[in-house]
Amino acid sequence: MLLSDSVQYLKGIGAKRAELFHKLGIFSVQDLLYHLPRGFEDRTNIKDIAELIDGETVCVKGCLVMGVRSFRARNGTRVVQTRLADGSGVMQLTWFNAPYVENTLNDSGAEYIFFGKVSYRGMKAEMVNPIIEKLGTQTSKMGKIVPIYPATAGLQQRSIRDAIIQALDRLSESLPETLPEDFRQKYNLIGIEQAIHDVHMPNDYDDFITARRRLVFEEFLTLQLGVSTAKAVKRREKAIALTDVKCIADFAASLSFELTHAQKRVINEIAADMRKTMPMSRLVQGDVGSGKTIVAAAAMYAAAKNGYQSVMMAPTEILAEQHYKSLKKFFEPWEIKTAYLSGGQKAAEKAENLALIESGEAKIIVGTHAVITDKVNFDNLALTITDEQHRFGVNQRTKLADKGRNSHTLVMTATPIPRTLSLVIYGDLDISVIDELPPGRKPIKTIALTEASRAKLYNFVINEINKGRQVYFVCALVEDSDVVSAKAATDYADKLSKEPLRGKSVGLLHGKMKSFEKEEVMRRFAAGEIDVLVATTVIEVGVDVPNATIIVIENAERFGLSQLHQLRGRVGRGGEQSYCVMFGDTNSGVAKERMKVMCETNDGFKISEKDLEIRGPGEFFGTRQHGLPEMQIGNFFTDMDVLKETQGAAAEILTDDPLLQSVKYSELKKSVQKAFERIGEVLN
Ligand code: ADP
Ligand code: MG
Repeated sequence: MLLSDSVQYLKGIGAKRAELFHKLGIFSVQDLLYHLPRGFEDRTNIKDIAELIDGETVCVKGCLVMGVRSFRARNGTRVVQTRLADGSGVMQLTWFNAPYVENTLNDSGAEYIFFGKVSYRGMKAEMVNPIIEKLGTQTSKMGKIVPIYPATAGLQQRSIRDAIIQALDRLSESLPETLPEDFRQKYNLIGIEQAIHDVHMPNDYDDFITARRRLVFEEFLTLQLGVSTAKAVKRREKAIALTDVKCIADFAASLSFELTHAQKRVINEIAADMRKTMPMSRLVQGDVGSGKTIVAAAAMYAAAKNGYQSVMMAPTEILAEQHYKSLKKFFEPWEIKTAYLSGGQKAAEKAENLALIESGEAKIIVGTHAVITDKVNFDNLALTITDEQHRFGVNQRTKLADKGRNSHTLVMTATPIPRTLSLVIYGDLDISVIDELPPGRKPIKTIALTEASRAKLYNFVINEINKGRQVYFVCALVEDSDVVSAKAATDYADKLSKEPLRGKSVGLLHGKMKSFEKEEVMRRFAAGEIDVLVATTVIEVGVDVPNATIIVIENAERFGLSQLHQLRGRVGRGGEQSYCVMFGDTNSGVAKERMKVMCETNDGFKISEKDLEIRGPGEFFGTRQHGLPEMQIGNFFTDMDVLKETQGAAAEILTDDPLLQSVKYSELKKSVQKAFERIGEVLN
């Protein structure tokens, strides 16, 4: 079997299953072998029941006593229970909603082995939903390190594992080595062949860790090399230097509120950059509600007063439209013209705006990624701003950078990444932090509720509405599909307006609506004509309606921590006390911990660190939410030491051979290019 062969050559993979593999980006045998585990389960630790410690995840082995019983709990959940004895003691095993368990445990004379997390109820040990194996089965995974792979609906861990093991077994050619021998020796890295084998089929824990380290090292190294190359390219360009930046003071003085100290500091940092011909590359981090828009507007004002154009790109139409409205209001008194571009615009309107941009009449340009299409020709662009930069994809960011070849760049985000990490990832990108909220804001009260309190919540909501406030209800993405979540939101809005919130005006907002429909709903909500807005995560970023004081998040367990924090940021934007209420299934430990963190802190920086820390295996959104590239195996938080090591290693390679031209780097160069395509999103 060759690396380039299709996965369909493997036994057990027909056309249907192959499609599931394709969903994971796996087409060839090579893709399959490089489908690296996100984590692993250590099933090597088999313990006596008498020795079990609360909270540990281990294997226990023994015979069932007193049979298996199953019943329906009061809330309707199907429960299966049995007791296990191993000579040292007896423990309880419980499964919820797992009907197959009864069949699996049908051999009363057999010995079984269970893998799961131990909890104590008083003196009695228990495992809930443990994995089961009958002792002596051929393909046993117990007593082993079991890699856990990124999977997709319909494709089990076991199928992925089996396919990989088969491929390793049948492969008749060797894997291309990316790291030269002397380099590997220096950094204590094993060869690729062994690394790939051991990461999938480790003999023991040490093997797995050694193999994984080699692969993480390579992944981070290619990232570092890619970042360095991109920076070198950027440094060669020159930007327009603004001669007058003092004018910003006039703009600040014209506002209806006083800028915070943090806002003033950041504006000064930006102004200092824009006076130079060296292109500014500045990241502005500021928690939700810290007032980033006005900071960006100040920079745009300076550009306009010096006679140049600026463009601000926002990730959603709702947000772009909102920015357009507020920027227009800021700039009208100064007779500075604003243009707006979005995908959903009518042709005539679009043409009109394009003309304003091309002639240079419009100095301030706002829009969605429509601003980076080929049709847009700027007259003299000096500043490009990306709001919520982590929300943009690879191509979009590259394109904006292309449009702004000779301009200064400002990117804004509410989801900071820890300082140590940003240094490694962004290198010499400058960072400004707005670490202060406008005065008079009350911390948002956050609470996780169970179904039992739902009726009370509705009463509370009705009370707030009667006081003149407004409310968001957010439904989770049921699947990664707009259609399904749109339906869920629609049904939910229907239900709310019929029963608990009857008589209140309920609006609906989701990704499948036409742009003019979305605009209309947002306009009505902002104007206070709608009391309750039921929405999917389309409202996640940037939406600013200060009169909204409650956000209710359904299925909060489905959201990442940073995403929950972003959603919460939709309220608490005015002077009134605001509330964030989460409903969610807290059976998963990770979800429970996330909600706990939410209830404990309002601080975006703390949340962001926690987010990276408590990501469960196979959860990508933490990374995506931070605007970090998605890594296949490396974890920016837990593999920080390797990340730092690769920084030195990358520098060394580039000193040796800046363009990676020598033969010994030829495979590495290929993988840098490949990684570059995949991770390009953070490099601009
Ligand atoms: P974010 O940082 O989340 O993008 P926005 O720029 O949307 O925050 O600002 C949030 C709200 O705070 C807006 O309504 C804005 O007008 C207001 N705001 C911004 N700066 C100040 C300030 N210095 N004083 C009072 N209100 C402010
Ligand atoms: Mg914003």
